[in-house]
Amino acid sequence: MLEIQNLHASVDGNPILNGIDLSVKAGEVHAIMGPNGSGKSTLGKVLAGLEDYEVTQGSIQYAGQDLLELSVEERAQQGIFLGFQYPVEVPGVSNTYFLKTALNAHMKLLEMDNRYKKRFVNVGFSGGEKKRNEILQMALLEPKMCILDETDSGLDVDAMKLVSQGVNALRDAGRGFLVITHYQRLLDHIQPDVVHIMSDGRIVKTGGPELALEVEQNGYADILEEVA
Ligand code: ADP
Ligand code: MG
Repeated sequence: MLEIQNLHASVDGNPILNGIDLSVKAGEVHAIMGPNGSGKSTLGKVLAGLEDYEVTQGSIQYAGQDLLELSVEERAQQGIFLGFQYPVEVPGVSNTYFLKTALNAHMKLLEMDNRYKKRFVNVGFSGGEKKRNEILQMALLEPKMCILDETDSGLDVDAMKLVSQGVNALRDAGRGFLVITHYQRLLDHIQPDVVHIMSDGRIVKTGGPELALEVEQNGYADILEEVA
């Protein structure tokens, strides 16, 4: 579904991604971990096609086509969904309009009651409500490739469970996930198939769920030393 080869990308002329190789098959959940500033969010933004992120080398194949040829809108239309680390507020646009159809089942799943439909997108929502809203949007858009950037940040334990349930309900043989996270605890709820550790714009180690446990126990220092 997603095949990234030797991806280099810069922001304002500063190289941030320094040769990423990553392959996500349909149905797989890949977690991306790594210290602050290692380029995790940048990778998500490059995949979504946000401007300011310039690909200087390498290739990205998505569903059999050259992703880099597609505009940000085309990528969204073709099923790329990026959940933001910090969701934006959109005054004046009601959630009803934004989501087109309110899918009550999804809202129930995320324990969001009807009054959220009438609210302006994310305005005055708590951090946890913004994240649940994001998973709701994702559920309605039925994306093929879901990129979730620190969906766990700012969530209390119960909200994290709800968000994880939302993600797990969307797991499907035709859908791939990149879950960017700092914390093993999210991965207790969303069991990844593959875990990657990023450092300095590269994936320096890849393994199974046990790799996330190793990070939780020992931090990144050991792994980074081992691969240095
Ligand atoms: P992570 O999500 O892993 O914490 P980011 O992808 O946000 O890391 O950032 C990686 C590096 O790129 C950081 O050093 C950050 O300062 C830099 N960076 C990210 N966005 C920009 C930008 N718009 N302009 C300049 N530098 C940026
Ligand atoms: Mg980030």
